[in-house]
Amino acid sequence: MLKDENILALKPEWVLVNDLRKVLLSRLSDDRLEYMTLDPASSVVISLLDGKKTVKELLDNIRYLFDFPDDGSAKSFLEQLLTNVNERDEKVAILNEPVSWAVRYNPLDFLVSPEEFEKGCRLTKPLSLLIFFSGWCQTNCIYCYSDLSNMRRLEHLSLMQWMPILDQAHDLNIRMIQLSGGDPLGRPDSIKFLVSLLERKFVFMVSTKCRISLEDANMLADAGFNEPINGIRRSFQVSIDSPDPQIADYMTRSTGYLGRATESILNLIEVGINPIVKAVLTPFNYQQAGDLIETFAELGVRSFRLANYGHSHYRHDNCLFLSDEMKTEASDQIKAIAFEHPDLIIEGDATKFEPSPQTLARRSEEKWKVRASCSAGRTNLGIAPDGKAILCEQMPFSIPYFVGDLTKQSILDVWNSTELLKFVYPPKEFFTDTPCSGCIDFQECVYDRGYCFREALFAFGRLHHPPPDCPRAPEVDYRLV
Ligand code: SF4
Ligand code: SF4
Repeated sequence: MLKDENILALKPEWVLVNDLRKVLLSRLSDDRLEYMTLDPASSVVISLLDGKKTVKELLDNIRYLFDFPDDGSAKSFLEQLLTNVNERDEKVAILNEPVSWAVRYNPLDFLVSPEEFEKGCRLTKPLSLLIFFSGWCQTNCIYCYSDLSNMRRLEHLSLMQWMPILDQAHDLNIRMIQLSGGDPLGRPDSIKFLVSLLERKFVFMVSTKCRISLEDANMLADAGFNEPINGIRRSFQVSIDSPDPQIADYMTRSTGYLGRATESILNLIEVGINPIVKAVLTPFNYQQAGDLIETFAELGVRSFRLANYGHSHYRHDNCLFLSDEMKTEASDQIKAIAFEHPDLIIEGDATKFEPSPQTLARRSEEKWKVRASCSAGRTNLGIAPDGKAILCEQMPFSIPYFVGDLTKQSILDVWNSTELLKFVYPPKEFFTDTPCSGCIDFQECVYDRGYCFREALFAFGRLHHPPPDCPRAPEVDYRLV
């Protein structure tokens, strides 16, 4: 229940974005896209939550703007709005004192007429770019999921050729960059590229297995890697799968990997960048998950991310999958360490495996209904090392899957191109002879939310086919994790 003297503040990591026919409340994040669409009235009210106005003052504004007859009805509207907006995460803080950290918006920038309001998932410009700066790596991991052989054949753009693309993204107010590859630090000019991202205040995460010298770490720190953007800190993830040198070498097929990665971790810590240690668990290293955390916690690492091996397509081997017993053992080990060290942040699917009938069911209507929307071409645009546009991280880097060329077209030209729109809104006849062609959910599934065309391609060899998670897809011997 709101009190008249309460102060409401939109948390700074939740950013208002005007997408012409709708306004989004988008979380500034270095690793995942998250947003909600606001209706026209809610957009204006949220833009007023500046951490200074009292609820009483807001109610006066709301009554005036929306013609509510009294404070009671305006207050019910505001309370319902806060319940909706804060349902999954607290986006609006209810405070007793004014604060200076809230971002001040101009409500006039977030006016959408109710007649023009459109709720659909596809945005008028990307919220984030997925950039493949380098197809190169210093390692050759057994579980790699990238199409490296095709990616390495592409003529990589020079640092200078990337600059106009980054400038365009900045001018379009795209604030989030996801870095993939190859290893984003796999080129000699990678640190300079990261510095260019920092100069443009992008939020991003680096995930690498390349050696980071003290000089490299210093360059990043001096360029502002540690400076939060709207309260969000960028992350620097170093992948280390095992504290055992031989197993670490085996997993990365790289001699002396553990020593180099440890040196990178210490160099990052020395310049004030707090690294995350990331591990992929397979039958070769799952029993060392606890040792890995303890070893690097002793060196000063506070954050860990552990993922169970997932189908990697380009070099997949069934023997890399963990059995449910192995997943349970690793998860129990990690939970015990987390209990002993409550100061550590330990995340990832390997930390919480529960062998329940629901997690074990391969697919179900319930899981399908609550699946995430596909971000490819709706909120996110990928750019290959040669500037070609590509829609999803693990797609093959070859001609049928490119949807434009950023060396010849602008970001918006690619975003609105026929090639890209054909991926997002494929004609129904492309699905002939598949369960999709007669499916009553086709519009909602394929056009509104998007289906995972990548998994359809990997499991059935066809983009225009239900993915294996769809309960109407034929049974196929294709396991994801
Ligand atoms: S993937 Fe195809 S069959 Fe499955 S729900 Fe969507 S449209 Fe229907
Ligand atoms: S194609 Fe699949 S993996 Fe790629 S963005 Fe869409 S849902 Fe995600």
